[in-house]
Amino acid sequence: MTRAAAPAASETGDPLLLTPGPLTTSKRVKEVMVHDWGSRDATFVRINGEVLARVRDIVNGGDDFVTVPMQGSGTFAVEAMLTAFIPRDGGVLVLINGAYGHRAKKICDIAGRKAVVHETAEDTPPDLAAVERILRDDKSITHVFAVMCETTSGILNPIAEIGALAQKHGKRFLVDAMSAFGALELDARKVQFDAVAASSNKCIEGVPGLGFVICRKAALEKTAGNATTLVLDLHDQWRNLEKTKQYRFTPPIHVIVSFHQALEEFLAEGGVAGRGGRYAENCRVLVGGMRDLGFESLLPERLQAPIIVTFHMPADPRFVFQTFYDKLKERGYVIYPGKLTVADSFRIGCIGRLNAEHMRGALAAVRDILAEMGVSSPKPAKAA
Ligand SMILES: *Cc1c(COP(=O)(O)O)cnc(C)c1O
Repeated sequence: MTRAAAPAASETGDPLLLTPGPLTTSKRVKEVMVHDWGSRDATFVRINGEVLARVRDIVNGGDDFVTVPMQGSGTFAVEAMLTAFIPRDGGVLVLINGAYGHRAKKICDIAGRKAVVHETAEDTPPDLAAVERILRDDKSITHVFAVMCETTSGILNPIAEIGALAQKHGKRFLVDAMSAFGALELDARKVQFDAVAASSNKCIEGVPGLGFVICRKAALEKTAGNATTLVLDLHDQWRNLEKTKQYRFTPPIHVIVSFHQALEEFLAEGGVAGRGGRYAENCRVLVGGMRDLGFESLLPERLQAPIIVTFHMPADPRFVFQTFYDKLKERGYVIYPGKLTVADSFRIGCIGRLNAEHMRGALAAVRDILAEMGVSSPKPAKAA
């Protein structure tokens, strides 16, 4: 039997990235970068201003909020947020159920910020009663930090409930919304946060290179002098942008112009509702199809964010992950290894310039590859 089917490809002929970011982006998002702009160019200054305003509008921030950009990947924004908002004599409750929670704790340790940890397993949301006890009893805590979608597993954490607890106990709330930003609702009018960190290259479908923190102005004003590094000084970055419309150091101009295009496409798709709707459909098709093939996903539906799905590794010794990965890549689908400590697993993302047809194509490829490898059932070792 001959198979003439060409590998699946993006608009620019590249393999599709079924990963947690960087992601497959539109052709136009890449095309708008074929120009040079000076950082003082009036067009660039206007584009940058629109980007920052649109990002703030995604959380309905209004005049009480401002977007402060930070050159670099998402972690640069998270580190800038934590080190700016938590004062030297403050303390933060870090909610951990995956690698990004651990990373926040490490940032606090390096910066010398007191961090109290509430950790649950990677497939378990925080225990809100335990969180409330800590907030009630530990007077040294001034802030609460949580990850909206822990990309390690794909779990959706209860951000609104955590925010309400923080508010009830007079603590300020800081959110790493990175992998959910633009796909799942986060509304400043409903969740009382001081700052939210995200980046250009996740659900807004831009290219990597710009992080940003959406900040409550009244709280940001009080952060002068808190920074522990020059480059990540969020307050200074903000003041300088307000005063001069310029970044303090070379901005990733091409990334910002491209991000502007990505935001146009995001708005044309219907904003959070449209983008989140497409990803939810991708996720539904993916999870349903993988279950039909015999795979088991880690999370129950109510905890699964439509961002990235963790599947248990099949027990059959004929299933070799590297072979599976390579064969999928040959067919134009790039997946992601697992990052869990609780179970041997791999991940497939639903975000980026992908639709339900792409997901069905990936499922057909998975089915063919299982047959090629001689795996009749991809069931994990012990039933989940
Ligand atoms: C992607 C991501 C980050 C940032 O990672 P970078 O590699 O620095 O871009 C932070 N938090 C979460 C939850 C993420 O998914």
